[in-house]
Amino acid sequence: MEKQIIFYGAGNFTQSFLKQWLAKGLRPVCFTDGDKNKHYTSIKEGNDTFCVLPLHEALIKYPNADIGITIAAIDQKDKIYNYLRVEGVFAERIFNVSADGYLKPILTPLKNMYCSKIGRDVIISGDNDGFLTLNICCYPTNMFIVHIEKNNIEEAIDQYFKFCNSLKEDLREGRTSYCQGCPFLYEITPDLQPIISTQNNLEYMSIGSGIYGGRQCNFNCIYCTYKQHRFIENKIDEEIKEKFNILEILKYIANNLPTVRRIFLAAAEISISPMRREIFTLWKENQWDGYIATNASVYCEDLFNLVNTSPAKLFVSLDAGTRETFKHIKGIDCFEKVVHNLEQYTAINDSVVLKYILVDGINCNISDVDGFIAIAKKIHAPIVIAQDHSQGIIPMSDSEYRTAVYLAQSCISHNLKYSFECIDYLTTDVKRLKNDGLFVPSLN
Ligand code: SF4
Repeated sequence: MEKQIIFYGAGNFTQSFLKQWLAKGLRPVCFTDGDKNKHYTSIKEGNDTFCVLPLHEALIKYPNADIGITIAAIDQKDKIYNYLRVEGVFAERIFNVSADGYLKPILTPLKNMYCSKIGRDVIISGDNDGFLTLNICCYPTNMFIVHIEKNNIEEAIDQYFKFCNSLKEDLREGRTSYCQGCPFLYEITPDLQPIISTQNNLEYMSIGSGIYGGRQCNFNCIYCTYKQHRFIENKIDEEIKEKFNILEILKYIANNLPTVRRIFLAAAEISISPMRREIFTLWKENQWDGYIATNASVYCEDLFNLVNTSPAKLFVSLDAGTRETFKHIKGIDCFEKVVHNLEQYTAINDSVVLKYILVDGINCNISDVDGFIAIAKKIHAPIVIAQDHSQGIIPMSDSEYRTAVYLAQSCISHNLKYSFECIDYLTTDVKRLKNDGLFVPSLN
């Protein structure tokens, strides 16, 4: 008999990911939830309907089922685990369901684990109401560890450090944590002990969308998950616009966080930002290393000067090698102009990294990859192969996988550097690529 699973948690996390869990074959027999108001309601997804039962009814109805905890809040997972144990559920039957649909045993976190991103990397972004969120990494997706409603950066950084300290402690002690199941965790062996930092020391900051000044964009990309929120930009009150925008965050880093030396500026289209001059001046003064995302639709002289007078590089999602596909994905018909601008940006040095986001059924074909590789070769650009996560975190489809392999092999034969973004987290994809003999470097 096929193994049955009851999902514990019928809230927002479930609503966001149920579709992809089902697509992956992870299908609950029913839901249960601690909230009595949800009992005897139902959850619909496509043609499927699942009932939400009180725990004891679910256990009576499905006595052999495992329980998958589908709750995002990390601090709740231990409480639910303990509650389930008190209710008589064996430990071996309790799992955590991650955003990408993997079942991870709750009870087996190893002791003495570590990840060098903790206390070192920060992803700073805004949520859809114009507030501030901080995270350590992109895994697990859609969860933030700090959420500050007054957009107070000092307070956010302080909370972030506190979270990192308790996370390090949890990992040392083998407690359930934010990092549960992440392939980047490694064991602190005796030889590593002396070099593992117990201090938090920020080195890398990624500044994403959702912050004021971070939403203006002149493209309409098919995979963009922020375009529907752009209107919110106008609703943010004046005080927040003044105190909390991309420029103010960069000024804060420059004045208060001298250890941050690498920045990924991924917020909106910088070449049309009214703050761009001040941002570029600040960047140059601080000689930050890192990447600035642009769609290269506008040739910006100031940006050209910046990449030639600082360690900054441009990060461009081109995603196509033909005009038709480019227009389909970007929503704007300006492929030739973008390619021309890329050539201008790289006239003095190799300052561009090109990204190819695989979009099933649109750019997963040989002519686009060949055209893309020809451009990369001309401007000596390293390649980042990425997935379209607007559909959720799911393993690559066969055509995406074949295209990823073809892209990587083309890079090898043309002597271009390549790396993978995000699929680091999907161990099935990484295993598959490695089994097929491909070297799988990752972007850091
Ligand atoms: S979730 Fe993974 S990458 Fe993120 S901090 Fe934890 S171990 Fe590191």
